[in-house]
Amino acid sequence: MKKITIAIDGHSSCGKSTMAKDLAREIGYIYIDSGAMYRCCTLFALQQGLILPDGSIQTDELERRMPEIHVSFRLNAETGRPDTYLNDVCVEREIRTMEVSSHVSPIAALPFVRAAMTAQQQLMGREGGIVMDGRDIGTAVFPHAEMKVFVTASDEIRAQRRYDELVAKGEAADFQQVLENLRERDHIDSTRAVAPLRQADDALVLDNSHMTIPQQKQWLLDKFHEIAD
Ligand code: C5P
Repeated sequence: MKKITIAIDGHSSCGKSTMAKDLAREIGYIYIDSGAMYRCCTLFALQQGLILPDGSIQTDELERRMPEIHVSFRLNAETGRPDTYLNDVCVEREIRTMEVSSHVSPIAALPFVRAAMTAQQQLMGREGGIVMDGRDIGTAVFPHAEMKVFVTASDEIRAQRRYDELVAKGEAADFQQVLENLRERDHIDSTRAVAPLRQADDALVLDNSHMTIPQQKQWLLDKFHEIAD
């Protein structure tokens, strides 16, 4: 059976990656978290002092140093899930902090950052058999993907999920700050000039505000079989 390309886009913290990971594992496809790639660019910029305390980005220097950013994913035998590596160092934890979350959207709006990440993503998916989640996968990265899903949920529900996730990891978190960060990221992601977050015309829409994880998993699996079988 031919392996297809599956693009899962949507707002911040709506559970896209959990759904995408579970689906990929279930059907034996590769899973790529494109958001992790933008988070790695942000972590790199922070580590190199290219984001100033006032939040401004030294764009010329970052553009010059883009070739130094190599993102890869390796399966973690313990969790059974892929971990993100920046230049061969596992940064799975570092890229999920509030500090990275609060700078990632302006970094991801830079055209040279998008061009570099999009090229890498297209290379990773050239053979099909991939589930990729993000903001522009069905619109810009794989506009011809056979299956496109656009996921959303209410702001408060998404913020609560993200807050619970941070607390579970032992991160200091403030619900209001999480909610504001999520709204700000959605705003920047939806209004940027290059590849803004929007629903592809041919995407299936899933509002998972009132769905459990097993229900979402089943929904996605049913849609996959309708399309791929
Ligand atoms: O998916 P996640 O929330 O980890 O993504 C972090 C950020 O990376 C998003 O808020 C968005 O600014 C950016 N992003 C993007 N395009 C993608 C995936 C993520 O611009 N395909």
